[in-house]
Amino acid sequence: MSPSATPGSAYPVDRIREDFPILREEVRGHRIAYLDNAASSQKPLSVLDAVEDVYHHGYANIHRGVHVLAERATAHYERSRRRMAAFIGSGSADEVIFVRGTTEGLNLAASCLGRHVLREGDEVLLTEMEHHSNIVPWQMVAGPVGARVLAAPVTDAGELDLDAFAALLSDRTRIVSVVHISNALGTVNPVRKIVRMAKERGAYVVVDGAQAAPHHPIRVRELGCDFYALSGHKMYGPSGIGVLWGRRELLEAIPPWQGGGEMIERVRFDRTTYAPPPAKFEAGTPNIAGPVGLAAAADYLEGVGLEAVAAHERTVREYAEERLGDVPGLRILGAADEKAAVVSFVLEDAHPHDLGTVLDHAGVAVRTGHHCAQPLMDRFQVPATVRASFGLYNTTAEVDRLVAGIEAALEIFRP
Ligand code: PMP
Repeated sequence: MSPSATPGSAYPVDRIREDFPILREEVRGHRIAYLDNAASSQKPLSVLDAVEDVYHHGYANIHRGVHVLAERATAHYERSRRRMAAFIGSGSADEVIFVRGTTEGLNLAASCLGRHVLREGDEVLLTEMEHHSNIVPWQMVAGPVGARVLAAPVTDAGELDLDAFAALLSDRTRIVSVVHISNALGTVNPVRKIVRMAKERGAYVVVDGAQAAPHHPIRVRELGCDFYALSGHKMYGPSGIGVLWGRRELLEAIPPWQGGGEMIERVRFDRTTYAPPPAKFEAGTPNIAGPVGLAAAADYLEGVGLEAVAAHERTVREYAEERLGDVPGLRILGAADEKAAVVSFVLEDAHPHDLGTVLDHAGVAVRTGHHCAQPLMDRFQVPATVRASFGLYNTTAEVDRLVAGIEAALEIFRP
């Protein structure tokens, strides 16, 4: 059972931590302080149990079987699809495509939507804060047809420059693809506004929701976008499973993704017809237990309450920003008004990788590097940052350990 955080009562972080066995692990003689949640989050027992239960009691290949185990596995798989439809605010489970994760979801959207609409001279508009998985797939589909990929700039505060974005929108813009929450800065983009602006120009809108799913309630219908991608492993679910949500009429109109079993209606050598969505986009044997774990993660998150999670993470992040702000020579990148559970920073006297290694020796796990956002690093003229990213189980005491680790590192690195 997930502990619920009832409004008005204290956030039950200690009880939540008990649900995550890995948080009791010792690393290099210290209790782990896991501050790398934007890369991947840890899993509660309910998710581990749900996945194990599939293999213990209900595993077989799905959809085709007439025997009991196949029926059980199919029922679990399709129930998980309905659960995820509810989690993201989709009207219909048929709009939920199970994919490997956000990367595969964005590649599917880029390939299928791109082939459907992009012609020579058209433009795809992104932002400077995109993850590589929301850049490269668009380049791959736009290049061969002579379409261009453009990026709207980011301000010094790490926000999307909406005036510049508006100026780049034109009748040539066929697709806009934006990140909901930046993994490198934590900036929350005004997606509803972006969708409205893009729709006025008749453009389709794709949203990369990898970092939003664990922190904010997602209502795809209210956002008004056409596609929305997320990853299970970032929202306390298993890796290798995610969701691409697409508007039904568009899923019907665009060409299929991979060809193979399950995605067809009738195959002949002269002509093949396709199954309706979502099967049209799920060729081959899928990840069968993954969706069940993902649905359990959705249950867990909603059990705690996404509003309560967001409020708790805001407290931890603001505390981290305050404490890190006092460290001499430390510069935080990203000061957006709307920000989620990420603090990215650089230190004058230490390379991010060296600092990451020293922190690891203190049992503090952070990420260092370009965070798959090299154009954003170029924008801020840094090769890499140190990123502390928080989840629903993190505490201000863990932030204190991060700061103590940095101060100890500076003793070593400062000339
Ligand atoms: N977009 C963003 C904003 C991300 O943070 C990530 C993961 N770092 C991805 C896309 C890609 O997600 P995945 O690796 O789960 O496919």
